[in-house]
Amino acid sequence: MKRVFRRSFTQQAALPFEALQAALSVLQSARLHRYDCTADALSETALLERDFALWQGARFCLAVTSGGQALQLALRAVGVAHDAPVLTNAFTLAPVPGAIRAVGGVPMLVEVTEDLVIDFDDLAQKARNTGARVLLLSHMRGHLADMDALTALAQDLGLTVIEDCAHTMGATWNGQTSGNFGHVACFSTQTYKHLNSGEGGLLTSNDPETMARAIILSGSYMNFDRHGAAPEPNYFQGAKFDCPNMSARMDNLRAAVLRPQIGELEGAIAGWNARHDLVAGLLAPLAPRVALPKAPPQAARVGSSIQFRIPALAPQAAERLVTALGARGIEVKWFGHEMPQGFTSVHRHWRYVEPQDLPQTDAIMRSLFDLRLPLSFTLDDCQLLGEILVEELETSLEAVA
Ligand SMILES: *Cc1c(COP(=O)(O)O)cnc(C)c1O
Repeated sequence: MKRVFRRSFTQQAALPFEALQAALSVLQSARLHRYDCTADALSETALLERDFALWQGARFCLAVTSGGQALQLALRAVGVAHDAPVLTNAFTLAPVPGAIRAVGGVPMLVEVTEDLVIDFDDLAQKARNTGARVLLLSHMRGHLADMDALTALAQDLGLTVIEDCAHTMGATWNGQTSGNFGHVACFSTQTYKHLNSGEGGLLTSNDPETMARAIILSGSYMNFDRHGAAPEPNYFQGAKFDCPNMSARMDNLRAAVLRPQIGELEGAIAGWNARHDLVAGLLAPLAPRVALPKAPPQAARVGSSIQFRIPALAPQAAERLVTALGARGIEVKWFGHEMPQGFTSVHRHWRYVEPQDLPQTDAIMRSLFDLRLPLSFTLDDCQLLGEILVEELETSLEAVA
């Protein structure tokens, strides 16, 4: 009898009890709108901004409706105009090119390396060829590029960097928190990310002018003084007349659910990394045929998911592997499918983006597999998961040999 994995890959860890209590008390108050608070008290949303700014080590924070909205606000706040080229890595989630298109920008996709980070040579070449002024750097699946080199290169090329930290909340490079390298950082609090409010997003920056624009854009009307981590009122003088209202405010219910989770983030990160390292350890003997992305010692990733590549596997064999693993309860995503599936899509599926020639990324995507590792899995679960994975990978590799 083949062993079967019986846990759900979409079941997140339970919310802390304090989150339930805080949510109940917001519901009882009926003050769900972020600006509905008494004169002497900050709302849960404003308090979330204060708490997250402190945790992130950023001067300013704005809470919004989603990670995708945070990206759109950031792009507008740094001045992306209609038809302006915006560079972004080709390996990312659909809301990233989506946000660029939504604000009228033109996504310029940059190749990624086998370690799933942006390719610096292609970045430099495309920055020069397109004249782009903005790089929306997506730390997809938590893989950090060499942030020292990236920062120097961006400076050299005159690029303003927006960091998409949907998968790197809590990750560090050389001890510095992801999101504190660029001009603005965007986070998601959608259920499958590192904080869970169903939907939600956070935007951080140290630049008061950019943050003032983002706050007005988010739909603050003239309530910019009711924020938890906002610039001084004088920074809003121009923005309050110039920036269109995009109505992307977070509400107090979601903020209340999020605040207690911030205190648990460090523990959650340790939990994800323990799960990741266990599964990675089981896969390691299959190298080099099964390749794990390499990370330099400066990168401290958050292992809330794991990726591996099998370059020798033909598309049909890859599909057979996905099916065989599925039959044993293991939900593995493959980036080589003809059609987009669930959350998984690649650049040629994004028809709102001009078709672009990305041979290096295409080859990598065809060989790339991806698994979630939610905290609802115990370490024993991960051991079983890893063992089943290895059994099926060995079968696939034998067929190739
Ligand atoms: C989830 C995600 C986003 C957007 O977040 P939403 O809250 O779903 O809008 C952006 N970038 C990446 C890489 C993501 O995974």
